Amino acid sequence: MKKNDFQILNNLLNSEPAFRRKQVFQALFNCQKNDWKQVTNISKQLRKNLTEQYGWLNVELSELLEDPQEQTYKVVLKLSDGLLVESALMLNNKGNYTACLSSQIGCSIKCIFCASGKHGLKRNLTDREIVDQFLFWNHFIYKKNPEKTVSNIVFMGMGDPLLNYNGVCNAVNTIISHTTLGPHNITVSTIGLKQPMEKLLSDPLWPKVRFAVSLHSAIDSVRQKLVPTIKDHASFLLFLKKWSKEYFKRFNHRQQRLCYECVLLKGINDDSKNAQALLEFCKEVYDIRLRVNLIPFNTTDDQLISPSRKTIEAFQNTLRNGGIHCFIRKSKGQNIQAACGQLVSSKQKNL
Ligand code: SF4
Repeated sequence: MKKNDFQILNNLLNSEPAFRRKQVFQALFNCQKNDWKQVTNISKQLRKNLTEQYGWLNVELSELLEDPQEQTYKVVLKLSDGLLVESALMLNNKGNYTACLSSQIGCSIKCIFCASGKHGLKRNLTDREIVDQFLFWNHFIYKKNPEKTVSNIVFMGMGDPLLNYNGVCNAVNTIISHTTLGPHNITVSTIGLKQPMEKLLSDPLWPKVRFAVSLHSAIDSVRQKLVPTIKDHASFLLFLKKWSKEYFKRFNHRQQRLCYECVLLKGINDDSKNAQALLEFCKEVYDIRLRVNLIPFNTTDDQLISPSRKTIEAFQNTLRNGGIHCFIRKSKGQNIQAACGQLVSSKQKNL
């Protein structure tokens, strides 16, 4: 595969002065431009080199699905090696756009309820391929309303961002450096991987983004059923308690959030025992910035079903009555298979 990351751009700009580098990145993040030829404040030779050796957007639209009722969009983007990646965009009722970006093609974790993991991991996305998803959505929004841009980013698409630590770290830092988005507009979501979670607490390069851990259950045997490829959930739960307290200390800004995400599945993790266990877990790490998001399951499998609204609300009430900020995430985009990996898994399985 042709190398396709920001290192190529950095190499091309190595001998250029700092202000030129700034102009190049400003142009790349400017939705009024679509081509290096339009960047007339840099030399002809540099424009030629950038066109030949770097290109502009390196993702190509393969399919766009739209759910006008939910104001949700989903694209399948073709990468330079022909592989496909999904990305989604949601408009909320305040008129803000959130882009849901992928960090990998496929996923090695294979949670039982997720389509992205069904066919395993193909490869990590490069920092540039991650940023190109963001740029794609900014261009998309610009055509609808030039006043608007992506307001928030969540890494909840295909893959686990912490399994592509450097790619995600570089991509996020690049976006923060060249847009008005701050680290609190960005959420990185992981299944929970000890080594990179420990690393980011003391990594000066790790951006101070919001963080979400897909907990799913505070009972180790239940979590084991949901995420069978990860071993020793009991020790992970102990680790997570300690880590969460450290996270709040290390990132002490009041807007810093840590969220525990729980995809609720009927008959597996939706009962009062699971709700109570999660409440006890949250109480031990309590901080005003802690959130629990309950996510009604998006159908990817006939065997698994979402609990009723009543059951989900009872689960939420257990947490809320115990003093924990707990929300039911509105499930958007089911009509267009916007749950992560649903669409690509149907198109890419034979690649
Ligand atoms: S839910 Fe996340 S970690 Fe689990 S298989 Fe899907 S993409 Fe991977």
